[in-house]
This record gives sequence, C-alpha cells and structure tokens, in this order.
Amino acid sequence: MIDINLKLTKKERVLNALAGKDVDRPPVSNPTNVATVELMDYVDAPFPDACRNPELNAKLALTGHTELGFDSIAPYFSIIQESSALGCEMQWEQKDNWPTVRMGNPIWKSLSDIKIPSGFLEHKDNVAITRSINILKDEVKDEVPILGKTMGPWTLAYHVFGVEPFLLLSIDDPQETMRILKKLKEITVIFGQAQIDSGADILVVPDHATGDLVSGKYYDDFLLEIHQELVEDLKVPLILHICGRTVDRMPSIAKTGMAAFHFDSKNLPEEAMDAVGNGIRLVGNINNPETLYSKAPEDVKQEVYRALDSGVQLIAPECAIPLKTKIENLLAIPDAVNQWVSNKFQS
Ligand SMILES: [Zn+2]
Repeated sequence: MIDINLKLTKKERVLNALAGKDVDRPPVSNPTNVATVELMDYVDAPFPDACRNPELNAKLALTGHTELGFDSIAPYFSIIQESSALGCEMQWEQKDNWPTVRMGNPIWKSLSDIKIPSGFLEHKDNVAITRSINILKDEVKDEVPILGKTMGPWTLAYHVFGVEPFLLLSIDDPQETMRILKKLKEITVIFGQAQIDSGADILVVPDHATGDLVSGKYYDDFLLEIHQELVEDLKVPLILHICGRTVDRMPSIAKTGMAAFHFDSKNLPEEAMDAVGNGIRLVGNINNPETLYSKAPEDVKQEVYRALDSGVQLIAPECAIPLKTKIENLLAIPDAVNQWVSNKFQS
C-alpha cells in the first residue's frame, strides 16, 4: 500500500517495495543499466573504461542517483564481467557501444571443461564491480540501495558454450544440460556473494531464457528449481531479469521465491500483473527502443502511469537502456511517479 505520510529513505523505499510492505511512493529502481553517453561525458567516465576501472565505474553509477534522481544505484552496466574473468574472448568496444563476448570461439564444450579459474574473484573485471560497490557504499551509506548483479547459469552458458551449441545440447541431452546448469550456478553464487560481502543490498540475476529462444516449459524443466536454490544461497532480495515475451512463464517465475521480476514491454503491465498474481513483485517495463530512445517525455510519462495504474510495484526501463537515450526522457520517469502519486493521493 501507498502511505504518503511515511518518510522513507531511498533504501527503505526500495526494500519495502521488494518485500511487499508499505511505501510513501512506488520507487524508481533500475535493475539494469541507466548510464548514458551524456552521463559518461558529464562525469568523464566513458565506456569501456567505466566497466573495467572501479573508480570510474562508481562515478558513472552514482549518476543514476545524483543526476537522474532514481531510487537505487546499479554499478554493473553490462552482462559480461564474470565471463571476461572466466576467459571468454571479449570485444570491449567504445564509449557508445556495449562490451560483448565474442561468440565465435566459445571457451568450453562440455561439463568437464567447466572450471572456475583460481583468482576468479580477483580478476580485474570482477574487481571493477566489487570494489566499485565498496566505494559506492562509503559514499551513500544506508541512504541509497546498491543493486549488484550476477549472471544466472543460462546466461553464463550462452557465453561459455555459445548460444547455438548450448541450445542444441539442451535438445539432445537434457540431463547433461541440467548438470551443466547446476555447475554454472556455482559461479552465479560465488560472484553474487562477493558483491553482498562488498555491500550490495540487492542482487539482480539476469538469466536470459527469453521467449524468443526457449519455451515456457523450458523454464520449468531447467530453471525454476535452480532459481529457487539461488534464493536459498544468496541472502539478499533477488530480482530476476529476463527480456522479451515471458508472460507464459511468469506463473512459474512467481514461484521462485525471488523478490521481484524485471519484465519487458513486450508484456503488457496488466497481463503481467495477472500472470504473477501475488507471488512476486514486478519491476519495469518502460519501453527502451521506441519510447525512451526516440519518443518525448510525455510519452514516457504515459507508460509510467499505465504501469502504476496496473499495480506494478517498482518502475524502471525494461532492460539496459540504449546508451544514447536522452536524459530528459529518463528524468520523466521519476517526474511521472511523483505526478501520479500527487494526483491520486493529494487531490
Ligand atoms: Zn534484458
């Protein structure tokens, strides 16, 4: 419920919303990146250095709180830090493009290849995140929640085995696939725990079993149980992130025990709320490629209002935003939330 008389810090607001407790207003809390080229220039912390250097990483991440006025900070901008530490071939790109794993030459072929390198947590690209969380924690103390991020086993499998070989294996040998996912889950837990130890209040778990590539049944067969285990293993609220159309698997996602599901605009907020019932909170789902990237602040606000009217508990872009998104469109998100609350409760 919303009680406008509550006086909450950003951290209390986000944690309350994730726990289904009362809030003074719904938080604007992005589980994935909101850093833009404009913000990189503003604080002189450009990609790819801001993904690899903890000081630059923290500087850029902080702008989500200081410049955009969002209720949380998310320092892990991409999805490839731990894959780099595992030894994947990387393409670090430039300021205006996402670093990626080069998919042509996967590092592993089978279960027996899976080995966590010694010094995994000390690898530069993992330290970029854990040390940045330390720095941010010193800076914001308990005022603003810090969202860490650790890749789920499905996403890791794409990076280390290649998307196509892994999907083919899942058809040919489901049992071996399951053993691989269980083994990769250890990486999710190790890197997640390192971020908790560094001060992360919440962890985002991207696990890209998207509607475009796999069916809802796949989610039940391969991931539901593993996601339930992650809730046991990592003792902070978890936010699952899966892009694309996912409404067919949302009833299962609602059974994971995770605190929230970060959902895509390919799912309408009304149908998503129906699909999860009261099993899990939803965070999202402002459209990136059209609305945030190319429309006007008024269009952004209309989408925020629709999500809020549907009961979506935490407002955010649907996924990592395009790096050239205009700041005015991002500022429209918290503006719209404040407007919605004052129209509804203060008139
Ligand atoms: Zn995504």
